[in-house]
Amino acid sequence: MYDYVLYFDLASAAIMVVLLGIYFSGKRMDTFRSRMYLFMVVTNMLTSFFDCTNVTLTKTELINRDILVRISHTSYFIFHLSTVVAFYYFCLFTSGIMRKQSILMRHASLIPFGIAALTALLNPVHNMLFTLDEYSGYHRGVLIWVFYGCALLYFIGSVVLLAVSGKKISAVHRISCYVFLTISVLFIVIQYLFPYLLLETFGCSLSMLICYSVIEHPEEYVDSEYNVLNEKGFERLIDNHFTFNTDFSLFCFKLHGLSGMKKALGKEYTDELIRTVIAYFDREFPNDSFFHYSYSTFILIIKKQSEDDFRKTSVRLREKLSSIWTIGSNHMKLRASFGCISCPQEISQYDHLRDFIAEVMNHKGSDSMTIDASCFDKGKTDRMRRLREIVSEAIENDGFEVYYQPIISMKDNRIKFAEALVRLKNEELGYISPEEFIPIAESQGNIVRLGEFVFRSVCRFIREHSLSSMGIRFIEINLSTVQLLQSDLSENLTKIMSSYDINPSSINLEITESAEAIFNSTFMENISSLSALGVTFALDDYGTGYANMEYFFHLPLNIIKIDKKILWGSSGNKRAMAVLECAVVLAHRLGIEVVTEGVRTKEQIELLKELGCEYLQGFYYSEPLPEEEFLRKAGELSSVAI
Ligand code: C2E
Ligand code: CA
Ligand code: CA
Repeated sequence: MYDYVLYFDLASAAIMVVLLGIYFSGKRMDTFRSRMYLFMVVTNMLTSFFDCTNVTLTKTELINRDILVRISHTSYFIFHLSTVVAFYYFCLFTSGIMRKQSILMRHASLIPFGIAALTALLNPVHNMLFTLDEYSGYHRGVLIWVFYGCALLYFIGSVVLLAVSGKKISAVHRISCYVFLTISVLFIVIQYLFPYLLLETFGCSLSMLICYSVIEHPEEYVDSEYNVLNEKGFERLIDNHFTFNTDFSLFCFKLHGLSGMKKALGKEYTDELIRTVIAYFDREFPNDSFFHYSYSTFILIIKKQSEDDFRKTSVRLREKLSSIWTIGSNHMKLRASFGCISCPQEISQYDHLRDFIAEVMNHKGSDSMTIDASCFDKGKTDRMRRLREIVSEAIENDGFEVYYQPIISMKDNRIKFAEALVRLKNEELGYISPEEFIPIAESQGNIVRLGEFVFRSVCRFIREHSLSSMGIRFIEINLSTVQLLQSDLSENLTKIMSSYDINPSSINLEITESAEAIFNSTFMENISSLSALGVTFALDDYGTGYANMEYFFHLPLNIIKIDKKILWGSSGNKRAMAVLECAVVLAHRLGIEVVTEGVRTKEQIELLKELGCEYLQGFYYSEPLPEEEFLRKAGELSSVAI
């Protein structure tokens, strides 16, 4: 009889106890995926336990020893294989393939396990899995290969699932799953060669530790700052509910003004508010799932509610949101937009659900704003989704075009510069406004690539045509704040300018006011290094932003562009007129020139002349034009004034 080493089994069981402790002491999610994880921990713990009893019972003199040893070995086999099966199902679920399978197919994967379990249970009859004898104890039988074969089948199945899962599983998760499998197989081989070492379950425990620390670590789905489930947790639960077609009600609300409150009253106060909200939901809905979806958006998910309960919960939550909240010693009313929907009846696709939440989040928020299935326009969000695809495709294929809108000098009525404006045309949706696709590109993280495309196009345009001979000083290019917050912006733009060998002074960058940017060091560094090269800057959309006067102290501006809404509002509105007048005066006192956008009539030109505005841009002179047309127009105008 071998002198079995039990230490590895004991260590393995201890590791599993710790993992169980962690699992039950923190925030948990009731999903198939986490149940499979828990199942693996428990079965591996039991496998370690039965591995120990296999050895220790053999050494005892109990009356029913033989029966107990047989039960112990049989349990060992079944639990050990269960861990492997659970891992396979874990992969089947996370790869997203389970969702596409019929219930029958899902259960079909259990057939090999059923055969192996039956083999183990029937061992007293056939004695071909293992035998026990008085002297040397346990002997493997030929049917042990049924177990090895089954385990191999599930291992291969898991590898295939991981390989075909595509983007459903992140690279880090996929690699750790492969490591999980490799370690497990390695330890099985070692144990096969050195049976007395009893290493298999320890190998599994090491794999489980990796699985825990990379894949199932609570920080993956728990917002540790507020101890509440986060957006990832939400995705996991929804994935689970849609996979199993579970009925659920979703209540989503966005609290408005939290960032303003954070600025005015401090982070501690806002944190206290968020904690109060979370505590309310933990207390009132202890058996449901509550998520801190984004900084100011929260989601409650309740499983299987009747229509009546759904309505009641919705009313109750709306009442609560519009009631007075007590934060520390303060009593305050919150502004919130609220959305409620029951799934899968009203929404059965994850994309639509995301759009629904986005709709609630994007609402400007009045006290009573409620969005439900009746006012949620799936058609609109289908267009949004299509738009997102079109923008991504256009980014990949440089499918944009750059147009140029002339900017005219008041002094001599000639084009002095032009603004580059990006255009997107699509066969299916026609002309798409930049006001629609720029925010999409920003949200997709594509704005930097789009910005570089525009910048390159403009540089090429300047290189290929002698604009200065037409009296054009520079081309204005719009920069998104997101671009200005990239640490390598100035380096990239400089490279592009030098690759086209153009003078930086032939470019003027338009920036818009943004609340945070001015205090950001990357933003300021980009501006100063580009400015040092000779690039000039214009402040765009003046009068509609935050009117932060600090822009004038810190930025090397040589132009401000008064927003068209200020000009349009000035006719018949004395206050808008006063704003317009003061903007021009302020700019001049600072030695900055003024462009007014949106010029459409002769009267507006007269007015702006009186105010002393230097440059005009608007449809009165020209709409934005494609390169060739712009050049034609500029050529004509360089000889004849408008
Ligand atoms: P913006 O920077 O304020 O650009 C001026 C917008 O006003 C342009 O709209 C232009 O066509 C429009 N406009 C000029 N004069 C008139 C007028 O007399 N009447 C009317 N109704 N409109 C006039 P567009 O091209 O649709 O661009 C909208 C916005 O999209 C731009 O506003 C800018 O914020 C953004 N955008 C455009 N191209 C780019 C780009 O290359 N990069 C970035 N980051 N943003 C861009
Ligand atoms: Ca602009
Ligand atoms: Ca503008």
